Amino acid sequence: MALLDRAIVSALPAVPKPIVRRISQRYIAGERIEDACRVVEELNAAGKMATIDVLGEEITTPEEARHIAYSYDDVFRAIGEQGLDSNVSVKLTGLGLKLGRSVARQNLERTVRGAAERGNFVRIDMEDSSCTEDTLALYRELREEGLDNVGIVLQAYLRRTLDDIESLADLTPNVRLCKGIYVEPLKAAYHDFDQVRASFVRALGALLEGGSYVGIATHDEWLLQEGARLVREHRLEREQYEFQMLLGVRPERADELVVAGHRLRIYVPYGDEWYAYSLRRLQENPKIAGYIASDTLSRLIPGRNGRR
Ligand SMILES: Cc1cc2nc3c(=O)[nH]c(=O)nc-3n(C[C@H](O)[C@H](O)[C@H](O)COP(=O)(O)OP(=O)(O)OC[C@H]3O[C@@H](n4cnc5c(N)ncnc54)[C@H](O)[C@@H]3O)c2cc1C
Repeated sequence: MALLDRAIVSALPAVPKPIVRRISQRYIAGERIEDACRVVEELNAAGKMATIDVLGEEITTPEEARHIAYSYDDVFRAIGEQGLDSNVSVKLTGLGLKLGRSVARQNLERTVRGAAERGNFVRIDMEDSSCTEDTLALYRELREEGLDNVGIVLQAYLRRTLDDIESLADLTPNVRLCKGIYVEPLKAAYHDFDQVRASFVRALGALLEGGSYVGIATHDEWLLQEGARLVREHRLEREQYEFQMLLGVRPERADELVVAGHRLRIYVPYGDEWYAYSLRRLQENPKIAGYIASDTLSRLIPGRNGRR
């Protein structure tokens, strides 16, 4: 990332919320479930699957956590009624992990059982490393209770990930593999770009070797190529893996993956708690400085780009 971009990234929390909101619109379906369903419908029409995330990381009470869990009932109902091709993604902090493991466990189990009743699937997102142990443990508990419609996320930047793959092997987990987005200490995570890539490839190889269904979640061109190579080498059928991308990131490349015959799932977040998610997406965007500059300019010069 260029120097100016890095400076903007570190100053981003000071950028006024309305500007963040405007330039992050491409990453968020909207605030309401209808917004999410509309976006999923469009994605489905373009041959893409989806996973819907109800944004709610900033909850502070068990009631708020329960509210998020209950929102997923509405999501499952809407998916069923509208015949959408989408599963859901949940964050355990949104379901109350920081308020106590039992709070998150109750909300998670309820959501996974709700999904099972409707033939749907729940992916548990992976958050920062203070959540890793609990997330993996709760995943195992649910699987051992016989709930199979639930999957996990593993982060290639974590040094522990290959060990986690080994210790989860008896469950043949359904895994989304991504690089990892949170700021982690060097003792927990690789910081070097090439080391993260190498770890991603090793982890993907180990997962496919163990027979896991993997969602290869990346926009990194080199990893997309490596992913496709490993899929070929393991002679996987189309239904035995998928690529995954985030809403608003490299949409043209997403189209190419579909045309090439791969299954592709787009992560579709919606909800009024859009701010923290938006900051993360903007901080990853290599063109962040340009977006901020152009948005600021268009506010200073009314009518620029046709906006008033
Ligand atoms: C479906 C999905 C689910 C995820 N779930 C989790 C999770 O549960 N836990 C977790 O820690 N992380 C999650 N992530 C985020 C992931 O860990 C990475 O931080 C993120 O995907 C960026 O890494 P990358 O592999 O795309 O490579 P990068 O090297 O970061 O990006 C590759 C290229 O993609 C483009 N790009 C990337 N980000 C943006 C952006 N915001 N705007 C515009 N262009 C961009 C750029 O061209 C960039 O050069 C998820 C990612 C995806 C795709």
